[in-house]
Amino acid sequence: MNILDRYHAMEYGPAPEARNEADAWLAARDFGRALFIGGDWKAASGGKTFETSEPSSGKLLANVSDANAVDIDAAVAAASKALPKWSAASGYQRAKVLYAIGRAMQRHQRLFAVLETIDNGKPIRESRDIDVPLAIRHFIHHAGWAQALDKDFPGHRGVGVVGQIIPWNFPLLMLAWKIAPALAAGCTVVLKPAEFTPLTSILFAEICERAGVPKGVVNIVQGGPEAGVAIVNHPGVQKIAFTGSSEVGKIIRKATAGSGKKLSLELGGKSAFIVFEDADLDSAVEGLVDGIWFNQGQVCCAGSRLLVQEGIADALIAKVKTRMSRLRVGSPLDKNTDIGPLVDLTQLDRVKGLVAEGARQGAVCWQPDAALPSSGYYHLPTLATGVSPANILAQEEVFGPVLATMTFRNTEEAIELANNTRYGLAASVWSENVNLALHVAPQLKAGVVWVNGTNMFDAACGFGGYRESGFGREGGREGMFEYLTAKLPLGPVIKPATTSAQPVEQADGSAIDRTAKLFIGGKQVRPDGNYSLAIATAKGKLAGEVGLGSRKDIRDAVSAARGAKAWPEATAYNRSQVLYYLAENLSGRAGEFAARLTELTGATPKAAREEVEQSLERLFLYAGLADKFEGRVHQPPARAVTLALHEPVGVVGIVAPDSSPLLGLISLVAPALAMGNTVVAVPSERYPLLATDLYQVIEYSDIPSGAINIVTGRSAELAGVLAKHDDVDGLWVFADAETCAKAEAESIGNLKRVWSGNGRSLDWASDEAAGDAFLRRAVEVKNVWVPYGD
Ligand code: NAD
Repeated sequence: MNILDRYHAMEYGPAPEARNEADAWLAARDFGRALFIGGDWKAASGGKTFETSEPSSGKLLANVSDANAVDIDAAVAAASKALPKWSAASGYQRAKVLYAIGRAMQRHQRLFAVLETIDNGKPIRESRDIDVPLAIRHFIHHAGWAQALDKDFPGHRGVGVVGQIIPWNFPLLMLAWKIAPALAAGCTVVLKPAEFTPLTSILFAEICERAGVPKGVVNIVQGGPEAGVAIVNHPGVQKIAFTGSSEVGKIIRKATAGSGKKLSLELGGKSAFIVFEDADLDSAVEGLVDGIWFNQGQVCCAGSRLLVQEGIADALIAKVKTRMSRLRVGSPLDKNTDIGPLVDLTQLDRVKGLVAEGARQGAVCWQPDAALPSSGYYHLPTLATGVSPANILAQEEVFGPVLATMTFRNTEEAIELANNTRYGLAASVWSENVNLALHVAPQLKAGVVWVNGTNMFDAACGFGGYRESGFGREGGREGMFEYLTAKLPLGPVIKPATTSAQPVEQADGSAIDRTAKLFIGGKQVRPDGNYSLAIATAKGKLAGEVGLGSRKDIRDAVSAARGAKAWPEATAYNRSQVLYYLAENLSGRAGEFAARLTELTGATPKAAREEVEQSLERLFLYAGLADKFEGRVHQPPARAVTLALHEPVGVVGIVAPDSSPLLGLISLVAPALAMGNTVVAVPSERYPLLATDLYQVIEYSDIPSGAINIVTGRSAELAGVLAKHDDVDGLWVFADAETCAKAEAESIGNLKRVWSGNGRSLDWASDEAAGDAFLRRAVEVKNVWVPYGD
């Protein structure tokens, strides 16, 4: 045998990571007192425990305290008690604590990695080289945000006590993503880890003790859904941050509706891994290994749908199969292992069930010829080909090592297939042509896009999704906003509208009757139901009638808004000019609008003129900001730049209040339009004629058809229709408290972003009722990672 033959014949020897320190740590703990509340270790008040076991063997690791609502109450009380001092501490004081946590974690880095691997089953290479270093980086990075708070987030303060609930797939990393920004912002936290993986959070609580985190600032409460529900419903919690399944995310959205709690949801995904024919195929294959087999595919942003251009499909699939045959399945503590066990038997059964169903629906499921360890919850890496877009493997999140493959012919088809999912978390684009990749990235409905890469994360770069992947971002500047609040200038409490017909005196009959219609798709159209609503002047006379919009009218308006591609695709400069032109045309009719305000609301002529003038000023403001509220470029510690792009939310429904009926409407519609959203607006129910008078102004202002649609009628009813409509991406509701709460609860179909005034209007004339706070709600931040170097 020559040297080359010997080289090819070489096999991997066992390379086990030592576990004695982790075993000693396990043996020394009293897991029956595992609740970290107010700086003390407590048993669950109900005396219950749950088991956590080792996925590679099924062996019991510990019986851990299982918190109930009483324990959550105690944890929230501890967090509330600690809040005043912690939030009043200087940024420097908080930064020192965050830094101390990061440094203490570094000193126990190996123990964290081994415990994580034992408890979760992920290969030690991953916990050692990815999860733990990234978690540490998160704390050290956020130490800086604590000090930068006053300068970078003027007018903002921490939101208060935060309830945080995390899943089992990245137990320590998800903990870091939650706790670091909260502490930097001056919040105190009650965090509940997942019941499969409590161990590293217990070690983390010990680190908090040693790093000098004041008692009660961090509370870590072990438990299952019962504890989760208690956190979500607790009135002493001002924000919920949840990472987990879309199913539970929807339950939480509903449960918090109307509570005024801030909410961020990081949910599931079905991310596309798109390979164009000019891609470097070998790199793409290595990317895939990372994209779908990292952490056994139990990754929310796993590239679980391989979309490959037809001409290279056979070549790429052959390379993928060869590479799959070399993946090493085995003990997660072996440093050579690529694929460890799934987290639990229930997860293994679920994945097997989905693969069987995918095969029944026509997919061809291929697995390499490899032996599985005799115990543990292992599943071979699986490649499904011949997958139709409707196949369960193309639509459902498997959360296992299963890759579904489809082909496409051209760029448009690739984008269409990639977006054919109810999720919108991440995507990878592989092409040697950077122009093509950067042409495709903005068109993908995903919060994160990796160009020629996958699963890149950093504390400075936001992460999070669209649609049923949830809302809110973690990491970076946008992640900090999730834990901050700024006071908006509150206006009057909004009372529910009375729907009984108002008796109104008839007009004197001297003018020609004009009934205002709806404005949909750039045209004035009759309401579908052919009913009208009589509108009274301030003196109780008939001012006119407007169309009574219905479900069908909202549907038509949403469809017009969805189809109005010219607006989101226009340059920001272009949108800016159109908004200036709108202001110009409105100013030409300022007197008329002021008279209308006086007629309808009884405002003095001076006050009415002022409202029109302020409306013009606001239009000017957003026209000017249209090309200035831009994204950023991050330079993460990797050979990549990350473009944090601002893109429109999409179709935004707006329910405007009665107070300042012209200024209120314009203050909401203008920022949405400025950022390239298309709008379906329901104007003030009481004074809709101010909006219908705008039709002609809009018609003469070069706004493309469908960019703005106006449906008059009953606000509460139309808000409900918008909330339930799955093609509406965002909804801003300024209506009575019940309507706001219902809109939030009914938004769960597609998990649209709802901004509600919780039954309060704003003081629209105030300068604080304009600017960045509005523009931020009008955009999604998409992080596009672009690596460089050979
Ligand atoms: P899960 O939703 O079942 O559980 C997540 C957490 O919520 C657990 O701590 C659980 O105890 C708790 N919980 C369960 N029911 C609850 C309820 N009714 N109220 C409050 N809390 C409740 O999810 P999982 O199976 O643990 O995790 C897998 C899911 O997490 C996948 O769908 C994955 O995509 C998602 N995930 C998303 C991200 C992201 O950043 N987008 C990251 C990791 C995981």
